[in-house]
Amino acid sequence: MTRIEAVRGDITEQHVDAVVNAANSSLLGGGGVDGAIHRKGGPEILSACRDLRASRYGKGLPTGQAVATTAGRLPARWVIHTVGPVWSATEDRSALLASCYRESLRVADELGARTVAFPAISTGIYGWPMDDGARIAVETVRAADTAVDEVRFVLFDDRALTEFTAALSTS
Ligand code: ADP
Repeated sequence: MTRIEAVRGDITEQHVDAVVNAANSSLLGGGGVDGAIHRKGGPEILSACRDLRASRYGKGLPTGQAVATTAGRLPARWVIHTVGPVWSATEDRSALLASCYRESLRVADELGARTVAFPAISTGIYGWPMDDGARIAVETVRAADTAVDEVRFVLFDDRALTEFTAALSTS
């Protein structure tokens, strides 16, 4: 059984095996979580991302997929980069958002990571409504077949924490 919790905090400060980055497909950095991870984790992460672009992901990491690198100077051991979908009012992209959580846990299993911290993927620059993003995150992690012992949702503000707490309280 995976223990799932929601806390308010900064993803870059989590002492877990792996932290998940809400990356963009270039893997070369951006704003929000991505910017904070590269800033605090140092150049080793960017260098590993560049290697991935030069090898497996010449066209970038596709939306809904996940790939791991070193966590550089972060307390975590690995960063799992995943690319969330941009919110669309006209097209249902929720399967791609669910895929981010599922694929990140699959990569965590491959690494042997037992504790994983997630941000609220797609709910920042990519504009996903927080209540729906929280519901998809919680439902997908609950349904996942994973050896991860603990999933920690790390939320940046009270609004996000409230939505994740509400999603976790529904059975
Ligand atoms: P996306 O591009 O997938 O929307 P963002 O990084 O813009 O990703 O935002 C995702 C969520 O992470 C937002 O709810 C944002 O408030 C939050 N966030 C931003 N910085 C941090 C951080 N350092 N730790 C945890 N959450 C963060």
